[in-house]
Amino acid sequence: MLNAHCMKNPKPDHRHEMEAIYAELERRPLPRQCEMRTGCCHFRLAGHTPMLTRGEAFYAAQGVRASGRKALKPHPDGACPLLGRDGRCTIYKHRPFGCRTHFCAEAGGMYPRKHVADLIQRLESLDERLGGSGSRPLEAAVTDALAEL
Ligand code: SF4
Repeated sequence: MLNAHCMKNPKPDHRHEMEAIYAELERRPLPRQCEMRTGCCHFRLAGHTPMLTRGEAFYAAQGVRASGRKALKPHPDGACPLLGRDGRCTIYKHRPFGCRTHFCAEAGGMYPRKHVADLIQRLESLDERLGGSGSRPLEAAVTDALAEL
């Protein structure tokens, strides 16, 4: 449940927790070959879109702001709106959890859930604290987060 302060400013602690979650994920290496292949960034080809909790969305939105943008523009190919013209993620350091745990088959496939279940729980817990109601598709989640930054 959020208090009045959190409702007014719903992102007071998200950055620290998101950085801690992503740092913990980095400490759990699995053999993967991401290397910015971007196969998973082409949603139509991949057949799915990353789903973001609110903490992920705020963190990604901060990456968007840091890159000098205030809003997302649809990608002409129906790919992720955060995929740059050079074919690379424009918010790589701020990319969502799903982009780090590789639903991209080319990169090695999705992490086993047991490998990251506790981190997913932390994301869900943060989502609840931030007033979220579960994961949402990337574009909608980041667009709303940008409006609240
Ligand atoms: S946020 Fe970045 S890594 Fe994730 S799908 Fe979009 S462009 Fe790809």
